[in-house]
Amino acid sequence: MDQLSRYKKQAKLGEGTYGEVFRVQDTENNEILAMKKIQVENDEEGIPGTAIREISLLRELNHENVVKIRRVICQNRKVYIMFEHCEMDLRKFMNANDLSQKLVRELTKQVMAGTNYCHIHRVMHRDLKPQNVLLNISGGQPICKLADFGLARSFGVPIRHYTHEIVTLWYRSPEVLLGSKLYSTAVDVWSIGCIMAELSTGEPLFQGRSEVEMLFEIFQLRGTPTEDSWPGVSQLKDWRDTFPKLMGQSLQKRLRNSLSAQGFDLLEKLLEMDPGKRIPLSEAMSHKWFLE
Ligand code: AMP
Repeated sequence: MDQLSRYKKQAKLGEGTYGEVFRVQDTENNEILAMKKIQVENDEEGIPGTAIREISLLRELNHENVVKIRRVICQNRKVYIMFEHCEMDLRKFMNANDLSQKLVRELTKQVMAGTNYCHIHRVMHRDLKPQNVLLNISGGQPICKLADFGLARSFGVPIRHYTHEIVTLWYRSPEVLLGSKLYSTAVDVWSIGCIMAELSTGEPLFQGRSEVEMLFEIFQLRGTPTEDSWPGVSQLKDWRDTFPKLMGQSLQKRLRNSLSAQGFDLLEKLLEMDPGKRIPLSEAMSHKWFLE
């Protein structure tokens, strides 16, 4: 029996990193879902069994701020993941609304809560960005739902979308850009720092078009790391001793004072260059900024 025939396609919602996303209706209960069709490039063997097992485990994640996976179907060497349907993503929400300080805090807190929950369940995202932060509006209040948690582990962090569009590097941490292979949950903390900055100004913090451009922009703001400030940095694969030695700027100045003093204190800690010193989310979530 064709398991997919139960889901009636209604519209294309978007094109993500791994494939197209459709709004579908479950004909057995009329529920509206989002279906992600995952294609793996250059893949002769089909989807690896490990990936399928890992995705199946993601169905166990259950948190208000994480998009729920309803069902996983493997058919014709493709994986179809049925997700809870969300109204919009954070990019669209930011474009349509002027965010108050209170809302910036609330959205940041929700993104942290969903991410922290996944980290506790040993799942990293590795590609957090506003396009992956989906939203529903409930009683006039936005509720963030993080999408694509765990997919990077199953399918790798691609360099290009399946449509060949380059995957954005704007939210990528310096250790990943420098070629570190030892990913830790700190990579998601960096991305959340970039998202928090963007929520407060409405503009992406870094906008490099290549790894080198990204590193240059990051060093310009946060200063070029040294062995003293970040032990081991010069051992990373893509480190070059010829990198310009930049001093860094003040976050307040760069973000035109768009946060309170406590907000900047938290942002400093999220955007710490050395992943070993970057604030863990459990600690970030109890920062004083959230009490203002
Ligand atoms: P993604 O692969 O998660 O980057 O998805 C690409 C686009 O598809 C997103 O920016 C959304 O606009 C849309 N999308 C993905 N998942 C959902 C969902 N669960 N509900 C509604 N729209 C979605």
